[in-house]
Amino acid sequence: MTVELLNTHPNAPTLGRVILVGAGPGDPDLLTIKALRVIESSDFILYDRLVSKEIIALFPTKTPTMYVGKQKSNHSVPQDELNDLLVAKARQGLTVCRLKGGDSLIFGRGGEEILKLKSAGIEVELVPGITAASGCASYAGIPLTHRGISQGCTMVTAHGEKELNLNWEHLAKIDHTLVFYMGLSKSQLISTQLQIHGMSPTTPVALIENGCCPSQRVIRGQLHELPLLAEREIVQSPALIIVGDVVNLADQLAWFSNNEFSNAGLLPKSRHQIQKLSA
Ligand code: SAH
Repeated sequence: MTVELLNTHPNAPTLGRVILVGAGPGDPDLLTIKALRVIESSDFILYDRLVSKEIIALFPTKTPTMYVGKQKSNHSVPQDELNDLLVAKARQGLTVCRLKGGDSLIFGRGGEEILKLKSAGIEVELVPGITAASGCASYAGIPLTHRGISQGCTMVTAHGEKELNLNWEHLAKIDHTLVFYMGLSKSQLISTQLQIHGMSPTTPVALIENGCCPSQRVIRGQLHELPLLAEREIVQSPALIIVGDVVNLADQLAWFSNNEFSNAGLLPKSRHQIQKLSA
């Protein structure tokens, strides 16, 4: 029996596998070494919308790739089809790199893909990535926790599959940093609900657009004006919303300047990129 025949049986062991790789928030230098190794050695790469063009530029030219990104209201490849595709590629014996923005297991549907793959008998590996909360906060000079100011941090999605089902009362009272993913179009709701449930209207907030990228913008203000800020500054996706007193530390902790990018085109090149460029 050939390997090909073996692999077509639904429960047959496969030679292929799928590696879910977190690509981080955009800056290629924020890829882990392991992520880069997987990108360089895989037989096939499937990547999402939030994988930056600088990271796409690191894909080996010989490796077949496929864009399976989603716009908010326009699912370019439905999740079920995507799961089937991953299973099919692995059954062909390929090592598949499934590359997602940030970390695959934080609002990235990575868990769903792993369940599907495992139930199909496909071997799975995970490479964690820097999630947007961590990357954007660092580049904006906002510590997600800070002794005496915030003893914790809650990451929340403001996007519900059907309806948003958040415990606003709990969020408003928890008295530590809140980070909203996919919250831009819900900034009015976030502002209103937190205030209705008792959070002070003057609580500091930050909107971080294109965090960790040359075009990063950080817009700061207070909770009551959050929707106004988003509208007035024409904030674009992807954007992260941080709510909490830690935002006030941003001036003192600031370190990142977009000038570094505009002078050099990019952050100082990593050893890998230099090697690639000179190859
Ligand atoms: N798995 C990803 C999150 C996917 S959900 C992660 O771990 O980061 C997509 C949301 O993440 C966006 O709507 C935005 O809120 C946030 N996001 C991702 N990358 C971002 C970036 N570079 N700058 C600002 N927000 C970002």
